[in-house]
Amino acid sequence: MTTNRTFTMIKPDAVGNGYIGGILKMMNEAGFRIVAMKYTKLSSEMAGKFYEVHKDRPFYGELVEFMSSGPIVAAILEKTNAVADFRTLIGATDPTKADAGTIRKTYAKSISANAVHGSDSDENAQIEGDFFFSKLERF
Ligand code: ATP
Ligand code: MG
Repeated sequence: MTTNRTFTMIKPDAVGNGYIGGILKMMNEAGFRIVAMKYTKLSSEMAGKFYEVHKDRPFYGELVEFMSSGPIVAAILEKTNAVADFRTLIGATDPTKADAGTIRKTYAKSISANAVHGSDSDENAQIEGDFFFSKLERF
């Protein structure tokens, strides 16, 4: 069976609350293999570029400020049907609407501080992974 890849970040709220280990455990138990991973912090310029597709949305300023407020974990993950299955694992953007057993239901507190990012398409997974990782950093 062919596998494909998605891109994720553990966001500053989840890192600050000590949830890195719990979130990685949920990713591993759901069958995602880690292809690349780093612990880093986005500048506001980098966060603004990463979320540029949302630049006209009312929450863009808040989103950029939040995503550059503390360290994150960035990773490329591999699995069959990776993008869709990972969106299922993380749950709805608003954690109050996320299904039980999802990462956001378990670890997120609000729609803006919602614990994890997951790519929304194969094309964006490629673009987002390339934003953080060189070819030499993927295994
Ligand atoms: P992500 O792209 O981070 O995986 P998503 O795809 O579920 O999240 P998007 O619509 O792409 O949701 O929004 C990107 C991020 O912007 C959300 O994860 C959230 O942090 C923030 N966001 C979205 N909608 C709102 C809102 N109404 N108010 C505040 N922040 C929001
Ligand atoms: Mg999104």
